[in-house]
Amino acid sequence: MQPSLVDLHCHLDLYPDHAAAIRECERDGICALTVTTTPKAWPRNRDLTSSSRHVHAALGLHPQLVAERSAEIGLWEEYLSEARYVGEVGLDGGPAFYRSLELQRQIFERVLRACARKGGKFITVHSVRSVKAVLDMIEKHLPRKSGGVVLHWFTGSKSEASRAVDLGCYFSVNSEMLRKGQHRDLVASLPSDRILTETDGPFTRTSEGPTRPSDVRAAIEAIAASRGADPQTVAVAVRANLINFLGDEAQSWAI
Ligand code: MN
Repeated sequence: MQPSLVDLHCHLDLYPDHAAAIRECERDGICALTVTTTPKAWPRNRDLTSSSRHVHAALGLHPQLVAERSAEIGLWEEYLSEARYVGEVGLDGGPAFYRSLELQRQIFERVLRACARKGGKFITVHSVRSVKAVLDMIEKHLPRKSGGVVLHWFTGSKSEASRAVDLGCYFSVNSEMLRKGQHRDLVASLPSDRILTETDGPFTRTSEGPTRPSDVRAAIEAIAASRGADPQTVAVAVRANLINFLGDEAQSWAI
C-alpha cells in the first residue's frame, strides 16, 4: 500500500476553486494542512474542511500582512478556541517586510502566548531572515509541552536547525527550497525523524503552473535525493513523523 502523502503547509483557499482543491486532496489521499493568511478567512476554511478526512485548516495571521492587518489579532484570538492548528504565523525579516518587524514581533508574541495558554495547538511558522528571533520567541513563550511547532520553508543555518531540533521543532520541506545546494545540505543534515513535507502551493510552481498538493511527491523525491535514500522510505518516514508530531490528534487525520 502506498503511504498517504503529507502536505503540511498549503494555501488551498488561494486556488481558483477552493472546494475543488480540498476534494482533490480527499481523492488523492493527501493529508493536508491548509493555512490561512488572515483570520477573516477562517470561518470559510473551517466550514469547508469540517467534514474532511484528510484536510485540516489552520488559523493564521501572516507576518507579511501584519503591517496592514495587525488590528485583526483580536479576531484571531477570538477564533483560537475553535482552532487546533495555527498558521501561517511567524516573522519575515526580508527586504519587503523588515520595516514591520517590531509589529510582527508583537503579534507573534501574542500568538505564542495565546497558544501556550490554551495548550495543544499545532503551529506552522514562517521564519524568513528571522530564524534566531523566531527560535528565541518560541523558547521564551511556548513551553515545549504546550504545543507542537513546524518550521515551514526553513532556511536557517545548521546550528540554528540543531537548536530548533533541541526545542522540539519539526521541519516542513518543499521541493523549491531544495533547488539551492546550500539548502539541500541543510535538509540532508536534518534528523530523519523531524522531517515533514509541504508544497506551500500556490506560492510555488511546477512547469505546468501553480503546485497542487499532490505535487508534494516532488518534495519526497528531492529529500530522498539529498540524503541518498529511496523515495518510498522517505514517504514512509514522513507519514510516521506526522503521526508522532500529532500524537493523539493523529486519530482525526485518517492517515
Ligand atoms: Mn505559506
